[in-house]
Order: sequence, then structure tokens, then C-alpha cells
Amino acid sequence: MNTTELRCACGAVRLQVRGTPIINTECHCTSCSEAGRRLGALDLPQPILSPHGGTRYVVYRKDRVSFSTGAEKLREFRLGPGATTRRVLASCCNTPLFLEFKGGHWLSLYGNLWQPDELPPLQLRTMTQDAPDRSAVPDDVPSGALATAGFYRKLLVAWIAMGFKVPQIAVKGTIDA
Ligand SMILES: [Zn+2]
Ligand SMILES: [Zn+2]
Repeated sequence: MNTTELRCACGAVRLQVRGTPIINTECHCTSCSEAGRRLGALDLPQPILSPHGGTRYVVYRKDRVSFSTGAEKLREFRLGPGATTRRVLASCCNTPLFLEFKGGHWLSLYGNLWQPDELPPLQLRTMTQDAPDRSAVPDDVPSGALATAGFYRKLLVAWIAMGFKVPQIAVKGTIDA
């Protein structure tokens, strides 16, 4: 299985992903937009939001992601105290690393961990109905309910292959934004 080496902007956090992603998406939901705006107030190495307001993700099985150095620098950001999702950044340089759903068996790694010419091609846009200006969102790849159902099917197939396990990722400390 091929391995891709990824790192935060300063290089203190290094991670490896193995094999191919489950899917490559750009999300236009209100939570991702709000997180992109709020985290954008920090000194980020690159903006999270694309020019048309989406957030680019490369979705991997959790058991195919491992941190080799700097795991102690991971910090989580939640949109509110009751939020079941968390967005994890590298505290050394504020590089956004991944979005994780509570109980989820996958990680949505932020696309900006990849060099632009190495980023796997976009396959799906999710939640385009939430985009503040839908007409600004390109119709370059599928979006909408049917395509999104295919995304959930791929997640389920991955979970079956994982034996319905949910690996845990330890994150100490939080980030306020
Ligand atoms: Zn760093
Ligand atoms: Zn989203």
C-alpha cells in the first residue's frame, strides 16, 4: 500500500496516510463555513475556505492515518460546547489537520495538507444547498442528494472493511476562535 507523507506548515507535526482516500470532497455546509471563518481569525498558514467558500477534504479511514511526530501538539476546536464534531489543528503553526465526527471511523483531512499539485482530484461537493451564493459554486463535480448518498455508501463500505472499529485519536487541549 502506498504511503503519503504529510506535515504541518512548520514540520513539527508529521503524519502518514496509507492507500487511497475514501473520497475527495469540498463541503459547503454552514458548520464548515463558520469554522473556516472563525479559525481564519487565527494566524493560519493558508486560508481554509476556497474562493467560493467551500472547505476541501481528503477523507481517509482512521486506521490508515498515523502521526509519527508532534502528536502532542494537536489541539481541538469545537463550534460550541455541545458540538459533536471537532476540528483539530497543529498548535505549533495553526495548520488545520482534520475534521472528526464523534464516533466516526473516518477522518476528513484538510486539503491544504497536500501540495496543490499533489492534492487528489475533487470528486464530490457536499451541502451545496447551504452555500451563501450557490451560483458561485462550480458545477465541476457531482453534488446533491444522490451523489451524497454515494458518499455515505463509501463510508459504510470502508467501515465494514475495518470490522466496525472506531480508532481513537488522543488530543490534549483546545483552541478558542
Ligand atoms: Zn507546525
Ligand atoms: Zn461541512
